[in-house]
Amino acid sequence: MFDIENVRADFPILDREIYGRRLIYLDNAATTQKPSRVIAKIEEVYKRYNSNIHRSVSKLAAVCTDEYENARKIVCGFINAENTCEIVFTSGTTAAINLLAFAFGEKFVGEGDEIVVCESEHHSNIVPWQLLCERKNAVLKVLPFNDKGELKTELLDEILTERTRLLCVAQATNVLGTVNPLDEIVRKAHAKGVYVLVDGAQGIQHLKTDVRASDFDFYVFSGHKIYAPTGTGILYGKEHLLEQLPPWQGGGDMVNRVSFAKTTYADLPLKFEAGTSNYVGAIGLGEALSYLIYKGMDEICSYEKELTDYALEKISSIPGITIYGTSANKVGIASFLAEGIHHADMGEILDKTGVAVRTGRMCADPTVQHFGLTGLVRASWTFYNTKTEIDSLCESIEKAKKILG
Ligand code: PMP
Repeated sequence: MFDIENVRADFPILDREIYGRRLIYLDNAATTQKPSRVIAKIEEVYKRYNSNIHRSVSKLAAVCTDEYENARKIVCGFINAENTCEIVFTSGTTAAINLLAFAFGEKFVGEGDEIVVCESEHHSNIVPWQLLCERKNAVLKVLPFNDKGELKTELLDEILTERTRLLCVAQATNVLGTVNPLDEIVRKAHAKGVYVLVDGAQGIQHLKTDVRASDFDFYVFSGHKIYAPTGTGILYGKEHLLEQLPPWQGGGDMVNRVSFAKTTYADLPLKFEAGTSNYVGAIGLGEALSYLIYKGMDEICSYEKELTDYALEKISSIPGITIYGTSANKVGIASFLAEGIHHADMGEILDKTGVAVRTGRMCADPTVQHFGLTGLVRASWTFYNTKTEIDSLCESIEKAKKILG
């Protein structure tokens, strides 16, 4: 049984006070808080077996390397990849996409080829592709969204051509919260021989993810948005695709033999893990995913669904509030504006009442520009938030309206 009080007790920060009030943390789309288990795991590594992985011969290094490789197995199982060699540790979503933009670009993209991104993407899933297209004289095409925040997938038939190499799409979008229809998108892309990269930064923590059943070619996510340490992330790629890609960065750990005549590279996944990785963070990521498996992703998803329905209904019923992103299929995100009130002012008042939210353009300029805005207030919740906290958010919004309106 999903017990919210037990869940909250696992996250020590949720107990602290801000300006004399209990913290109401509703900025989970920016980063999530960490359960005691993850914090303890990091402490355990540093106190008991910290040693550089894959290198030293010591007992400590053996334990540390085993823990790191075990974390890779946990990630592999969590997203149901076929083989641990398909799981590359990175420093986050941004690093994973930049890695892919370089390596995929080197192998598969030439002059006049096309990359498709969606209008509702985070800058991390736009700018690396712009850089690639500049480098290769390739063409960046954009799949737009409608005013509900849903992708106009009916346009894919004309947007995807025989020159399209890759389609890049978020599992869920970071401003509007829309869960994109990936079954349809992957089917249409594959029918035209186009590979698909799914940005799971806002999806992995809220939706059960099966990269094999969904037939994603590449999938990326950040550890810090799924209760794991910062500076961790994953690039998943189908083995036969990753095999074909050249390394991105050169250095230790990614080589087999180095000589001035010829250097050979390590097998997957180490080919893409040059240098000393954030192995402590990666072990923490494994611990965070184990925690979620223990709590039950089905239970988490159904609790979050109920909370999201409640929150969207409650926030949108406040007079003068407009929520942007009104798709029926959303994760726990409400980006909104109060009539006549600047988003930054609203954010500041909410903060003074103990409610932490994000304001501004949220690294998604094209999304904000779509609505002709300069910024929004974003409240984002997860499985440790409660209906009572949503009620407090709404009371704080009302208070802010009185003060600023
Ligand atoms: N994609 C999406 C959809 C995101 O929400 C974010 C983070 N806000 C990123 C990519 C970038 O993630 P990171 O900063 O952890 O690399």
